[in-house]
Amino acid sequence: MTPFFNIDERIEKASNEALKKCSKQFEKIERITEYNQLKVQSAFIEYGISESHFAPSTGYGYGDRGREVLDKVWARVFGAEDALVRHNFTCGTHTLATALFGVLRPGDKMLCVTGTPYDTIHNVIGISGSGMGSLKDFGVEYAEVPLKDERLDYEAIENAIDDTVTMVYIQRSRGYELRPSLLIDEIEKVVKIAKAKKPDVIVMVDNCYGEFVQTKEPTEVGADLIAGSLIKNAGGGIAQTGGYIAGRSDLVEKCAYRLTTPGLGKEVGATLGLNRELFMGLFHAPHAVGEALKSAVYISALFNSFGYDTTPAYDAERGDIVQSLGLENPDSLVAFCQGVQSGSPIDSFLSPEPWDMPGYDSKVVMAAGAFTLGSTIELSADAPIREPYYAWIQGGLNFHSAKICAMLAAQKMLERGLLK
Ligand SMILES: *Cc1c(COP(=O)(O)O)cnc(C)c1O
Repeated sequence: MTPFFNIDERIEKASNEALKKCSKQFEKIERITEYNQLKVQSAFIEYGISESHFAPSTGYGYGDRGREVLDKVWARVFGAEDALVRHNFTCGTHTLATALFGVLRPGDKMLCVTGTPYDTIHNVIGISGSGMGSLKDFGVEYAEVPLKDERLDYEAIENAIDDTVTMVYIQRSRGYELRPSLLIDEIEKVVKIAKAKKPDVIVMVDNCYGEFVQTKEPTEVGADLIAGSLIKNAGGGIAQTGGYIAGRSDLVEKCAYRLTTPGLGKEVGATLGLNRELFMGLFHAPHAVGEALKSAVYISALFNSFGYDTTPAYDAERGDIVQSLGLENPDSLVAFCQGVQSGSPIDSFLSPEPWDMPGYDSKVVMAAGAFTLGSTIELSADAPIREPYYAWIQGGLNFHSAKICAMLAAQKMLERGLLK
């Protein structure tokens, strides 16, 4: 029993039982973590990373060796020809938008094959909003193939890829849906179908929440372009902001022209002393993802033992770090998030309340006791207050820290007479 937190004996007991159930998954996660750690480490060694790569540049940032080598190391790790890793990307959405605007041209067509994409991408594509300069405003067409029973509909995908399709777009993570995340083999299958049907089609993957969850990345199974956020998996909890794009070098170059300007591309961009933490974040990322995965598996096992629906199940294969819990009613969602927050290293004294968030059609309650604002590789939980009353949990830089937060969440529900 921990001397530092007040946890009911019944929860302690359930926690110990849940841990036992997790052992097989934990072993699997350890093996993946080790593989990915060595993959990253060998890339650092290959490129001879040293103190000199951490030197800050200012102004135009010409000839910043650290920035150039960071791109190379990143490309090696992700099995890509080139990469664009920058603190200047403000978030994942910005990074994905840069990639989309970078490679798509008027008259092109983007085909999303994983149903409707993540909410914040809608304005980028032009599915919603107007007058903001979406892809649609610039004459880029869009179509999507819905999922079938929550899985990829390979036949419909094959049929939808015709001469007019320029890009096949895949979202690896489930985002805030209840569908399973994609496994790397499924992504590979889409790549094969797409390339067989139209060899020059660009396959792009939204890789958010997917990095280092399995031993391969989409670019290692034929995807042409991937993008993600550095305050999720790939920044290892150390990067304070930023994003990355990786893939075919001609495409990455186009993305660089979009991020800066045509002509300048990758040649400019002061790093201001941030190279060190971007290198260190990548170095730490496989381990951080492993801890986040263990946290998700444990939370799934614990809440399943209380009788709640948990997806994925604790023993399921995972393609991302996201865990959802069906907590069945609004009071439980609030109690859960308040319990998580109360155990967080930062802002533990705050008590989250549901509020109207821009872009959501219901109130949302969030727990986020993180060192980096909005970081979701750190333990975070959020729940729209609407049926079917699911909470989404992700991250956990450190399993033991996430574990006590989950126990405190159960404790808070117990104290309010809500725990099943
Ligand atoms: C988080 C996320 C994004 C957008 O990232 P932000 O950093 O929140 O802008 C896009 N797609 C998926 C699947 C995500 O999980």
